[in-house]
Amino acid sequence: MIPALLSNYAPADLSFEKGEGAYLIGNDGRRYLDFYAGIAVTSLGHSHPKVVEAIKDQAEKLLHVANLYTIPEQKILAQKLVDNTFADAVYFCNSGAEANECGLKMIRKYFSANGQPERFRVIGFNDSFHGRTLATIAAAGQDKLLEGFGPMVDGYDHVPAGDIEAVKAAITPETAGIIIEPIIGEGGIQVMDPDFLRAVRSLCDEEGLLLMFDEIQTGMGRTGKLFAYEHLDITPDIMSSAKALGNGFPVGACLAVEKVAKCMTVGSHGSTYGGNPLAMSVATAVVDVMTEDGFMDRVARIAGHLKQSLNGVVDRYPTVLEELRGVGLHLGLKCKVENGALIKALEKHGALTAKAGDNVVRLLPPLIIEEQQVNEFVEALEKACEELA
Ligand SMILES: *Cc1c(COP(=O)(O)O)cnc(C)c1O
Repeated sequence: MIPALLSNYAPADLSFEKGEGAYLIGNDGRRYLDFYAGIAVTSLGHSHPKVVEAIKDQAEKLLHVANLYTIPEQKILAQKLVDNTFADAVYFCNSGAEANECGLKMIRKYFSANGQPERFRVIGFNDSFHGRTLATIAAAGQDKLLEGFGPMVDGYDHVPAGDIEAVKAAITPETAGIIIEPIIGEGGIQVMDPDFLRAVRSLCDEEGLLLMFDEIQTGMGRTGKLFAYEHLDITPDIMSSAKALGNGFPVGACLAVEKVAKCMTVGSHGSTYGGNPLAMSVATAVVDVMTEDGFMDRVARIAGHLKQSLNGVVDRYPTVLEELRGVGLHLGLKCKVENGALIKALEKHGALTAKAGDNVVRLLPPLIIEEQQVNEFVEALEKACEELA
């Protein structure tokens, strides 16, 4: 007999009863400092009053009606996202992979609608992650994601991240667009050089390609701006968002400029749950909190304090830690010891973090952390490093 639950994950033997802000209360009775936030999802912390209120209010009114009827809550959230980004229109779905799937379909549809259906190929980057649907694993192109799921969806080419000459060389008459994470998240918090991203934008302009940013992990305040592209003085044509958009309520969004969005005509795409009133109300509450005056300044400030403290630890334990990477509160500690060992040691000292590729421990604290919690984490990290040194 196999377990009733599919064995596709390998969870730690720890569960939680409750969350309060930056803390999780375990079934072992311990209080843990949450420095992974459900993988960059609960960015406003657990049980944020505005999020709880939005869920309660909407749940008492209406959960779901499907897109056969007008859903006013969609228009409200779409307008807020349009007002706060480069985008002209937004499509709502339920997860990151779906948001990317929509963006990838938009790239094909744009060229098909403009009389060039032969242009359908998309360039992606080594070590990237875009979700687990057949098209998104093809876009990422990592062997470990594709293993056993062949043949790979056609139309995706891959080059090393950061190599503009390789991108140029990969462009053919069939190329339609480029998909990139401005900071490769799952792949080990690899920050793309801003000059590289600007060069990719210029290349797209010269070649008439669409540029899609996957901001599922970097977006919604993680880097100290609402979206990471704001650090770069360029804008993508398409952008996916999910993770922190719902602070734990499943919701995704695909944002696009007018020329692309207008190709997605009636019947071209859709989702039963997508944009339901509950998801919209929760995400609206999240956007409202994050766009309040001073919110992002506070994130940038606390991130500066965290970064400075972490760099101190990296310097003191050169046999355990190699370097600190990242922007804002989207951080990674590249380890010299096995990353899983550091995660275990941190857990023992009451701090929860997440694994990433390239032997990195990801630090994704909620954006609402306070100085005292930063200090608490740094103390736990010192103790963990002491033990592993
Ligand atoms: C998490 C993530 C996804 C996939 O999101 P799901 O909600 O798990 O489908 C896609 N791209 C990036 C960059 C991510 O971090």
